[in-house]
Amino acid sequence: ALKCGIVGLPNVGKSTLFNCLSNAKAQSANFPFCTIEPNVGTISVPDPRLEKLESMVNPERVVPTTMEIVDIAGLVKGASKGEGLGNQFLANIRETDAILHVLRCFEDGNIIHVDGRVDPVSDKEIIDIELQLKDLESIEKRIQSLARNLKSGDKEIIKENDLAVAIKAVLEQGKSVRSMSFDEKELEIVQKFQLITSKPVMYVCNVEESAVKTGNAHVEAVREAVKDENAQILIVGAKIEADITELETYEERQMFLEELGLEEPGVNRLIRTAYSLLNLQTYFTAGVKEVRAWTVHVGATAPQAAGVIHTDFEKGFIRAEVMKYNDYTTLGSEAAVKEAGKFKVEGKEYIVQDGDIMHFRFNV
Ligand code: GDP
Repeated sequence: ALKCGIVGLPNVGKSTLFNCLSNAKAQSANFPFCTIEPNVGTISVPDPRLEKLESMVNPERVVPTTMEIVDIAGLVKGASKGEGLGNQFLANIRETDAILHVLRCFEDGNIIHVDGRVDPVSDKEIIDIELQLKDLESIEKRIQSLARNLKSGDKEIIKENDLAVAIKAVLEQGKSVRSMSFDEKELEIVQKFQLITSKPVMYVCNVEESAVKTGNAHVEAVREAVKDENAQILIVGAKIEADITELETYEERQMFLEELGLEEPGVNRLIRTAYSLLNLQTYFTAGVKEVRAWTVHVGATAPQAAGVIHTDFEKGFIRAEVMKYNDYTTLGSEAAVKEAGKFKVEGKEYIVQDGDIMHFRFNV
């Protein structure tokens, strides 16, 4: 499953946010949620299209697509050298596909800041440095082991070594690997290096209630500091999000959101942004038994999409019948979609689009 790791210094609001995310079920009662370990949660990706499909198909059940989220605590200055939970935490983060970096952008004299002042830009640098040091360690190891085979003159090994050396230089300048650009072939090699700072990142600015819509000076400072990074910024108020999830009914939550001037809980936005950060998209299956959302990478072919449901579907793939969500919902039925000539039969080469409603034909 695709995993997002939440990182940040202590007391910036990681657990508060993690708990809200894990509580996404509160927003729609029939969505499954399960906790695997205390710090790992499976979160449903909110998608209003599922409700629309449910109202049209009337299935026995509706199943959203999910993502895994890991609360990675224990990152402090010196973690790369084993301070705090140090190395164990770094192993956890290596296994994630994307990083949510939570930054404290709220002032609150009652909540101790590890360095005694609120400064999200410097907080971010502390974390970045630890991650870069860890990457530096791995890349140096890689260069050492490549050195043994370099004399062979193997082109692949030379290329890998050149790349590793270039990455090392960037890390030594205090920059993250994601600030570099790679071609497709290089990207393949870089993925093998399993570096932490090459993962996509989203900065989550945790602000006080009054700033959830507008942001504040701290958010602006973060924006300025990361403008050259390939990164997204999201403003969220973890504490009011926690208050929202505690409200019992949907109506109460809507009223509270209205008072705040928000259309939806910030965690919904966060989940969706993380989803696109991972370069993921959704296709649907819609039958009377089940209406369900499935996750595939952007660019996935029809057989790959079928493989998400079951590997046999991919192996025995014959064809896919595809309707667009928009055609189906505006025309009102499968028959109408067929009549309009918009019901398509696609083969192995078909590239799945977000919002496709698919039905697979396969050999077993
Ligand atoms: P973590 O150490 O990063 O996991 O931080 P926690 O989520 O445990 O939060 C630390 C403390 O800050 C808790 O007492 C939270 O209630 C509080 N907190 C978290 N987010 C906010 C916020 O947006 N505003 C304020 N005032 N307090 C917050």
